[in-house]
Amino acid sequence: MENFTKKAQLQQHLQSLKAAGAVIGFVPTMGALHVGHLSLIKQAQQQCDVVVCSIFVNPTQFNDPKDLEIYPRPIQDDIAKLQQVGCDVLFNPGVTEMYADNEKWHLDIGELEGLLEGKFRPGHYQGVTQVVFKLFDIVKPAAAFFGQKDYQQVLVITQMVKLLNMPVKLAMCPIEREADGLAMSSRNIHLTAADRQHALILSKTLNNVKANFDSNHIEQLTQNAEAAISAELGLTLGYFEIADADTLRPATQTTKKVVALVAAMVGKTRLIDNVIVSS
Ligand code: AMP
Repeated sequence: MENFTKKAQLQQHLQSLKAAGAVIGFVPTMGALHVGHLSLIKQAQQQCDVVVCSIFVNPTQFNDPKDLEIYPRPIQDDIAKLQQVGCDVLFNPGVTEMYADNEKWHLDIGELEGLLEGKFRPGHYQGVTQVVFKLFDIVKPAAAFFGQKDYQQVLVITQMVKLLNMPVKLAMCPIEREADGLAMSSRNIHLTAADRQHALILSKTLNNVKANFDSNHIEQLTQNAEAAISAELGLTLGYFEIADADTLRPATQTTKKVVALVAAMVGKTRLIDNVIVSS
């Protein structure tokens, strides 16, 4: 695997591959790689000739400095995992390679960035669009692969690509879960053994909503879900929303494409999860 920390060198390398006709697939990550991330790499390998993975813990998308400070950065393990799955190129820049001093611009992508995660993490999606715009501009991939795990992020990036006419095809890959249903996340390493057990209520509740969706009212399902999560020890519910899968506005009984999304503090760790209820 080729490993670059400088964008100019990465671009030079990719230019020669593109000139030879290679289709470039791109998987942006913040590292601490797990099976979920690797599933995106594998998906990219199926559709592209060369797969570039970036590992960059993007400071502008963290609204909590403590969260940024404790974010795991096991770069040697990550490199070994990428080599194992046969990733072609790693881009692992430092902060100064990605941002000039005092860079303040952001993209206005509309109401989506202020809903759900955006409401609970003000500025988060501005940081996400900022870094993904920059990464797309550096890599110029034909296709980019994102996880359904961050469902709202996929919609945000889709909107950005549409607004800016960016020539990249986006793919959303399924959520990889532990055997007991917990959605894989780099943040799971912060969970205590007790947190880990309590966290299972999130996927359990989402699955319940999906199983009972056709025979129940949305308000009732939402209330039951909120009650079940709030009753679980050690959890503080952020939001539970049954939403229109395209807009993330609250769903009604006539909404065709529906997604249920949840965010909660589990002990000291904030987790998110979702399930597509109907599509
Ligand atoms: P992150 O490193 O958390 O920024 O995630 C990088 C990419 O991996 C994003 O597109 C995530 O949605 C995706 N991802 C994270 N966790 C999972 C998972 N459990 N299953 C599938 N994709 C995931």
